[in-house]
Amino acid sequence: MRFQHLIEKKRDGHELSDAELEFFIHGYVGKTIPDYQAAAFLMATYFRGMSFRETVTLTRLMRDSGEVVDLSEIPGIKVDKHSTGGVGDKISLILAPVVAAAGVPVPMISGRSLAHTGGTLDKLESIPGFRINLTLKQFAKLIQKNNACLIGQTRSICPADRLIYALRDTTGTVPSLPLICASILSKKFAEGINALVLDVKIGNGAIFEKNNEGEELARQLIRVAGEFNMPTVALLTDMSQPLGRAIGNWLEVLESIEVLRGGGPQDIRELTLALAAQMLLLGKKVESAQEGYKRAQEVLDSGAAWEKFLAIVEAQGGEVKFVEKPELYPKPKHRRQIEAQRNGWVSAINARWLGQISMALGAGRRTLKDKIDLTAGLYLEKKVGEVVKDGEALLRAQSSAMKIEDDVVRDLRDCFKIIEQPVQPPVLLRGVLDANGMQALPSFS
Ligand code: URA
Repeated sequence: MRFQHLIEKKRDGHELSDAELEFFIHGYVGKTIPDYQAAAFLMATYFRGMSFRETVTLTRLMRDSGEVVDLSEIPGIKVDKHSTGGVGDKISLILAPVVAAAGVPVPMISGRSLAHTGGTLDKLESIPGFRINLTLKQFAKLIQKNNACLIGQTRSICPADRLIYALRDTTGTVPSLPLICASILSKKFAEGINALVLDVKIGNGAIFEKNNEGEELARQLIRVAGEFNMPTVALLTDMSQPLGRAIGNWLEVLESIEVLRGGGPQDIRELTLALAAQMLLLGKKVESAQEGYKRAQEVLDSGAAWEKFLAIVEAQGGEVKFVEKPELYPKPKHRRQIEAQRNGWVSAINARWLGQISMALGAGRRTLKDKIDLTAGLYLEKKVGEVVKDGEALLRAQSSAMKIEDDVVRDLRDCFKIIEQPVQPPVLLRGVLDANGMQALPSFS
């Protein structure tokens, strides 16, 4: 088989056989297929798509490209959550302790920041000492101890996804349905879970901006997961503005601490509870999403989730004193406040640009080798629907890596649209999908 012929076959819109897809995955992981040929193949796939069978086969091949974790010795239904990525999305930091405190084991293998979105691992690592590079044996031991452990993708898990995702990120081939499905599901299926909750984001800060695109992605993910007998539920959620108010690693940890201590922004709390409800339902701890929501609310409000978070931080080597007393954390060297230049209501916030600017201030990396400024980021004083006066703060920017110059201030101000009429904030939870299709939105009030 010559890979060039497979690129041509995909380019011309033909379906590849299982053996041909295997040739691609084995060849790319084994380094007999060079980046330039793999990139051409990914671009052909981006334009031509893949059949359902091809997507399922690709998912299986990618999952089996490395080790598949066996957590069968740990009692209980193990459930994880995966978000398709958004700006200010720190939900995993709160959700894992909430669900673990409510009795469902959460084996969470997360990623680093890429493109304009932050990564859970970088946020966790902003807690001094926190170790995300554990062995799979340590991972299993800590799940047994705390019901949750949050680590990074080891070299042995899903190497095909690690290599292909990095190539997609630099070749404009991320927004491809079959490639996203195979990427997300292969690594989740390799981590030893029994059920999965997906947070499919829609809006200018997400991979897909339109409702129908997000819905199609959720449908495909659930259909492919069905082939692996993996019970899966997807929430369709808003990413037309950042989640919460904090963007940037330590700032997002601070906001997570606020929520775990019973405060914090309402959207973060609501989304965490809605996702936790589905995880507890899949974990068979409750009989309905409403009951799951209530149970999650109880562990959050009683302080049990906060205690669980402290236990997780301690078990993974994090210095608990910084979490308990965040004022001890190093301060950023540079800060600027960005003010509105007119009265009105905030009608839109460009989440993607804010994500990109936050990354440029040092909160993210252009290549996986770049060092992150953990103090860098943004804090939104205003969100969509809120009233603002001329001269009032829209947001604050901070960085230790660089001074915040006037052109950055201008760019940040341009991320906000202010109009003269009142505006409704966007609806956070847009849909719930499972193997039976779109479900009625659960009412939690
Ligand atoms: N998240 C992933 O893990 N993979 C993708 O392809 C897109 C989002």
